[in-house]
Amino acid sequence: MTSPQFSFEFSAPRTPEALAKVIKIHAQLSELQPPPDFFSVTYGAGGSTREGTQQAVVDLNRLSKAPVAAHLSFGTDDEAAIAALLHHYRQAGIRRLVALRGDLPSGVGSSKQLVHANELVSFIRRETGDHFHIAVAAYPELHPETNTVADEIHHFKRKVEAGADSAITQYFYNADAYFRYLDLCAAAGLDIPIIPGIMPITNYKGLMRFSAICGAEIPRWIDKTLASYADDQASLAAFGKEVVTKLCERLLAGGAPGLHFYTLNQAQPTLRVWEGLAL
Ligand code: FAD
Repeated sequence: MTSPQFSFEFSAPRTPEALAKVIKIHAQLSELQPPPDFFSVTYGAGGSTREGTQQAVVDLNRLSKAPVAAHLSFGTDDEAAIAALLHHYRQAGIRRLVALRGDLPSGVGSSKQLVHANELVSFIRRETGDHFHIAVAAYPELHPETNTVADEIHHFKRKVEAGADSAITQYFYNADAYFRYLDLCAAAGLDIPIIPGIMPITNYKGLMRFSAICGAEIPRWIDKTLASYADDQASLAAFGKEVVTKLCERLLAGGAPGLHFYTLNQAQPTLRVWEGLAL
């Protein structure tokens, strides 16, 4: 069995100060043992962080021993703009992408039809062949716009058939949903690595709000316990660490091919879980 892969995601910085912070956290995480397998930088809804993402990806890649992946989606761009971005990344030595449909920024309305991730994967393969390792998103608890489990697997399969090499999941706190998803993918003949996305818990209201939007289920017992620590940040952080560390242990013990941490551009929440894992 190959050893698990560990990766860390940064949110695209929008200011020079935010970029400096990401560079600092990247340096801290680069020291971990076992060393990270890759880092990634998000792409703001509708391409709203085009410059910030590009700059962070290229700067981090220059500093990094591990590869840095650029998240990418069509947003409101046309094929020529995406092709230009792909060639820019290729020339800068980037070898990894996370290909997404993305969401439109709030306020843009629904006049623009978003390009699904399977079409983006096909486009990248047409433009750049096998140059990039392409990861795509997977949703063990279903994407909020998907109605049935069968549809979820069907659309995920289309991304794999278009040429995705691996997948990273939306975060979840119910390991059974992930293992069930792996079984369904295996039954559908899909054998790319599906790496669980891990969201450290640091903030009750933010977690509940974002989870409602992205379709991540917060088990009632976690919700109620976090709510009871509304005025006690230390207890909330300790409970969050315990829950997420146990989840990671269970995922790795059950054969997950790695862990992808959503750092939200903070080192400590991820490091607390990492230390708990005693890798
Ligand atoms: P798709 O795979 O296109 O799926 C979207 C919905 O459409 C699903 O309901 C699916 O079942 C359905 N569907 C898929 N293909 C088709 C098709 N061909 N025809 C009809 N229906 C279809 N967002 C950002 O803005 N920036 C980021 O950097 C970012 N990074 C992310 C990283 C990870 C690991 C994950 C899990 C999510 C990330 N997101 C990011 C959020 C993501 O953009 C949203 O979840 C978005 O709503 C869906 O993107 P997708 O690539 O999964 O879309």
